Amino acid sequence: MSIIDNLLALQNHDAIIRSLQQQINDIPVRIDQEKHLETRAHEELVRVTDQFASIQTLLAELEARYEETTSTIDSLTDDLNYADANRKASIEETLGYKKRDLITIESNLAHAKENLALVEQARANSQKKYADATASVKAYIEGINKKTEEVQAKLDKAEEERKALLEVFQNPMEKRYLAYYERFSKRRWPVLAHISSNSVCEGCHMALPQAKQQAVRKAEGIVTCDYCGRVVY
Ligand SMILES: [Zn+2]
Repeated sequence: MSIIDNLLALQNHDAIIRSLQQQINDIPVRIDQEKHLETRAHEELVRVTDQFASIQTLLAELEARYEETTSTIDSLTDDLNYADANRKASIEETLGYKKRDLITIESNLAHAKENLALVEQARANSQKKYADATASVKAYIEGINKKTEEVQAKLDKAEEERKALLEVFQNPMEKRYLAYYERFSKRRWPVLAHISSNSVCEGCHMALPQAKQQAVRKAEGIVTCDYCGRVVY
């Protein structure tokens, strides 16, 4: 096995370790995302419930006005029986206003009732969404501990296996390359990148002098990219 083969084997293994670490790091983020959905569902429920309450208030007001207006119309109609001609004209004029008011109130009432039915449906939907979101968060958090344990166990195993892969780096030159790999991998990933036949580093996509390609082919130690510092192979 060449030094490049050994480094590539290490890099492939480290890719697995990084992915496991990423999964562990993502857990709090995913819990937050789940909780965020629950919070949004709750906000929506509060909004729709407020809307429902304000339509109910409006409806109560309209019903009171309806009662008041019909009773005024009734008493004005009674008054007509006892009024003289002058007074009659005035009462009839008021009656006319009140009857038009009543028509408006009735139409507003019908509209408010329609709205109430729609918002009631929306409220039922929101309640269901919120209940679903709450159940989903609960289930998610219950499952997450188990998953974390599983991923952590895989990670521990992979870290252990990594030690064996490091054993092949023995002589001072190999140790130096390994140190380069370890240092570089903390800043950039991947460390090793393929160099194409027209001498382009596939890590940073920069074209390198043709001599690089030849140096890689001759395989004298490791060759790095002039631009990104990756080990090219
Ligand atoms: Zn490069």
